[in-house]
Amino acid sequence: MVRDFLKASGFLDQPNVTNIIPRPLDTRILAKTHSSAYIRYVQRISETGEGEIDIDTPGFKGIYENALVTSGATVTGVDAILSGEIEHFYTPTGGFHHASYDRGGGFCVFNDVAASVYRLKEAGFRRILIADFDVHHGNGTQSYFYDDPEVMVISFHEDPEWLYPHEGHLHETGVGLGQGYNINMHFPMDAGDAVYKYAFDRLVPKLLDYYKPEFILFLPGFDAHYRDPLAHLNLTTDMIRYVAQFIHDSAHRWCNGRLGIVSGGGYHPDTFRWGVGEVMSVISGHRHQSPPQHPPFEDDDEIWQIVRSNISEVEGIIFPLLGIG
Ligand SMILES: [Zn+2]
Ligand SMILES: [Zn+2]
Repeated sequence: MVRDFLKASGFLDQPNVTNIIPRPLDTRILAKTHSSAYIRYVQRISETGEGEIDIDTPGFKGIYENALVTSGATVTGVDAILSGEIEHFYTPTGGFHHASYDRGGGFCVFNDVAASVYRLKEAGFRRILIADFDVHHGNGTQSYFYDDPEVMVISFHEDPEWLYPHEGHLHETGVGLGQGYNINMHFPMDAGDAVYKYAFDRLVPKLLDYYKPEFILFLPGFDAHYRDPLAHLNLTTDMIRYVAQFIHDSAHRWCNGRLGIVSGGGYHPDTFRWGVGEVMSVISGHRHQSPPQHPPFEDDDEIWQIVRSNISEVEGIIFPLLGIG
C-alpha cells in the first residue's frame, strides 16, 4: 500500500529518493535487544503457527522471519545513514515500541528502535534522541533506556489512563544517571492541533537545545490523527507535518542530517497514507498536499486546562533535573 502510494505520488521518481532493500535483523543485535528465552518463544510459534506473542498479538507461521525483516529494515536504514549513502530514511514498517527485552505485545515482536540504538552505540554515538509521537506510549522502548543518559526518549501520547499500554505517566522520568532523560507528555481524549502544537513548542525545542542529539529516531504518530479508529486524539496532517518539519530541521541542525523515521501505528488506510505523504514531503522536499481535513471538535477550555497543567508538571519535574532554565 505504501509503495503504491509513494509511486503514484511521484516520490520514487525524485532524484534524491532511493529505495533500499531491507536486510533481516542481525542475530547479534537481536540477542542484545531480546532475551534468549523470548527469542526461542517467538521461534517456536513461528515453526508451528500455534500460540500468541500476547493477547492482542497473534502468532503465525513464519512470524520470526517476518519480524526479523520488518525490524531489520530500521537497522538497514541506520546502516545506510552511517555509511554516508543517505541522510534520512523512512521505513513503512518499524516503530515496534511496545516490545521489551523479554516480551512482545501491542502488535510488536522485536523492538527495532532499541535494536537501532544498540547499533548506534556500537558505532560510538552517545546522544541518541528517540522522538516518539505515536499516539500510544512507547512503553517497551522506555524500559530499555530508563537509566541511560545516552538516550533521550520523548514520548507524546494519549492519556494512559484510558489508552493502551496504560503506562507513560508524567512522573516516569528515568532513574539513576538517566533521570530527566525520559520525558512523557500526555493529552486528554479529543485534544487537537492547537493544544498539541502549544505543548510541542513549550517542551521540545528546549529539550533538543539542551541535549543536542547526534542521531534522531522518529515515530511521527500517524495514529494520533482524528480519523484513526484505535485512539482518540484529534490531530490533522497539519500537525503531523509540523512535528516532522521541526524534527527534520533539528536533524540538520544537530546531527548532520542523521534522521531515521519509522511508521509506528496508523490504523486508517487513508490517514496512514496522508501521514506518509507529509513525512516524505518534508524529508525529500517533493511537494505533496494532503486532502482538506475537518476534525469534529475544537480544543475546548477543559482540554486547554488539562494540557496546560500537564505541561507545567513536565516542566516542573524535567527542567530542574536537566538544569534547563
Ligand atoms: Zn500507536
Ligand atoms: Zn533533510
